[in-house]
Amino acid sequence: MTLLQVSGLESFYGASQALFGVDFSVGQSEVVALMGRNGMGKTTAINSVLGLIRPRGGGVRFIGRDIAGMQSYRIARLGIGLVPEGRRCFPNLTVRENLVAAARQGPWTLTRINSLFPRLEERQDQYAHSLSGGEQQMLAIGRALMTNPQLLILDEATEGLAPVIRQDIWAAIRRLKADGQSILVVDKTLAELLPVADRCFVLEKGRTVFSGKPDELTPELQDRYLGV
Ligand code: ATP
Repeated sequence: MTLLQVSGLESFYGASQALFGVDFSVGQSEVVALMGRNGMGKTTAINSVLGLIRPRGGGVRFIGRDIAGMQSYRIARLGIGLVPEGRRCFPNLTVRENLVAAARQGPWTLTRINSLFPRLEERQDQYAHSLSGGEQQMLAIGRALMTNPQLLILDEATEGLAPVIRQDIWAAIRRLKADGQSILVVDKTLAELLPVADRCFVLEKGRTVFSGKPDELTPELQDRYLGV
């Protein structure tokens, strides 16, 4: 079953067009990678899906409903959980308070988050601002999961983190996948992303230029679309 279907998406910043026709989809229990070099439109596409930017053209359907232009809190309530670029937890709440504040009914509970990220359990009474960058990222993922989303979106979840912490985050993503969680991932570390992805989409200059399975994204295509 298709959870999210984005077709022909066009978005603008003021008069300046950033997306010219973006297509991608995420099916139930699928991990989908949204890729592209810096500035190609990945964050704009995600923000357009979430209603943080109002798309001016194309369609966004989530579990069969047209959500293009819907207010972002309503989209979130329908079951999309975002882990935004740059994390954004409540700095003056503790780890536990951050998690509990996000909670909605469903299989994800504090106990389950603590088993996914034991480091968070060890720090449950610490203020979020006192956490390391990697721990804040775990908390941001935990918060999104506590909303019990049908679709989890991770925007650059491993960026700027120490290698060992990145490994922890990727291990968590693999566990979520094994649990059947549907995930849309934006990340630049292909070596980690491609093995976990069921399908990938590549954006270039605000357009989808590739869609397919990770093994169809040949080294030549990687070089053309993702090389620096
Ligand atoms: P990155 O990996 O660097 O986050 P990205 O693929 O997510 O890149 P976007 O941030 O979506 O790319 O940017 C797409 C285009 O929109 C770029 O040309 C960028 O300059 C432009 N853009 C992004 N944010 C704004 C903004 N707030 N105002 C105007 N233009 C913007």
